[in-house]
Amino acid sequence: DLTMKNILITGGSGFIGSHLVRLMVTKYPDYNIVNLDKLTYAGNPENLKDIEDKGNYVFERVDIVDADAVFKVFEKYDFSGVIHLAAESHVDRSISNPNEFIMTNVVGTLNLLNAARTSWGSNFSDKVFYHVSTDEVYGSLGDEGFFYEDTAYDPRSPYSASKASSDHIVRAYYHTFGMPVKISNCSNNYGSHQFPEKLIPLMINNIKKNKPLPVYGEGLNVRDWLWVVDHARAIDEIFHRGKVGETYNIGGHNEWKNIDLVHLLCDTMDEKLGREPGTARKLITFVKDRAGHDLRYAIDATKIKNELGWVPSVTFEEGLSKTVDWYLENEEWLENVTSGSYRNYYQDQYQNR
Ligand code: NAD
Repeated sequence: DLTMKNILITGGSGFIGSHLVRLMVTKYPDYNIVNLDKLTYAGNPENLKDIEDKGNYVFERVDIVDADAVFKVFEKYDFSGVIHLAAESHVDRSISNPNEFIMTNVVGTLNLLNAARTSWGSNFSDKVFYHVSTDEVYGSLGDEGFFYEDTAYDPRSPYSASKASSDHIVRAYYHTFGMPVKISNCSNNYGSHQFPEKLIPLMINNIKKNKPLPVYGEGLNVRDWLWVVDHARAIDEIFHRGKVGETYNIGGHNEWKNIDLVHLLCDTMDEKLGREPGTARKLITFVKDRAGHDLRYAIDATKIKNELGWVPSVTFEEGLSKTVDWYLENEEWLENVTSGSYRNYYQDQYQNR
């Protein structure tokens, strides 16, 4: 349908991307949503099983590091908007393999900017290039204070340094070429469909299986947790109504010390599984702290609230309870993503097309 607006979402088969694709495909039937994803270990088409047959959804298996392949996709569809989420996203993996993070997060973002710029020429009216980023670019806080949109960047892990680099390049394309860019920096997300290497699904999975619960250091690091569906709602607002050239911080005003969060998860799981109170807490095992582990992240999300009226839709207790229920009800998903069997299946599928 030539009258439909083509919107590119990169990384749509991942955790946050799949929630965003679901929201956009459902809420905007007059958009054609093109999901561009390489399907790394973190990308799982199964995450979009419920919407993949909708007429306004298309999948393109592309590696954003491959500039030619990215250009071809921009030639095939005349995109009016880009929402870029594809990234290597796990800090621990960036410590063991930094190079892949620079390639995907920095070079990949550059390739997308260049493809958009070539495809749009100098006609930027009604165009948006939206880069989804993290609060980790701001570095680490002490016990006090918050990250604001104008907090100086101070990334400390290869992951956050790669995201900071890409933010800077996106902003440079705004100032230098007038590209219509938007950036958001969000705190830690939790929810369904998150790869179980990340804290919350890892703990849920291990509690269920009575396996040790590894907690870094003494568990004193503080993170601000936001329900992934609320992040997707914020992205929708910023994409449509945020100001070009601006940054928006997104957060839940919901700070937890890791150890307190793990305790809460243990108690929630004991209750939901009908186990004796205190059972899961016995599984907690303190492990050597992550190298360069940032102490505390906390977002001031006043700007997005005042300008766009966005606030989280659920309390942490509600969001966490829904999340635990989802992992308990989707045992097969958990088994399959950890064993890599979906990945192999879809690898074959898409290779043979
Ligand atoms: P994720 O790891 O679950 O998903 C990343 C997706 O990107 C996967 O589908 C993967 O296949 C795809 N991808 C990776 N490399 C690619 C490449 N070279 N080409 C094409 N696709 C590729 O990540 P997530 O947690 O959903 O994060 C999405 C975005 O949001 C990232 O940019 C991340 O930096 C940002 N972010 C995440 C959080 C969080 O708490 N998870 C918080 C703030 C910001």
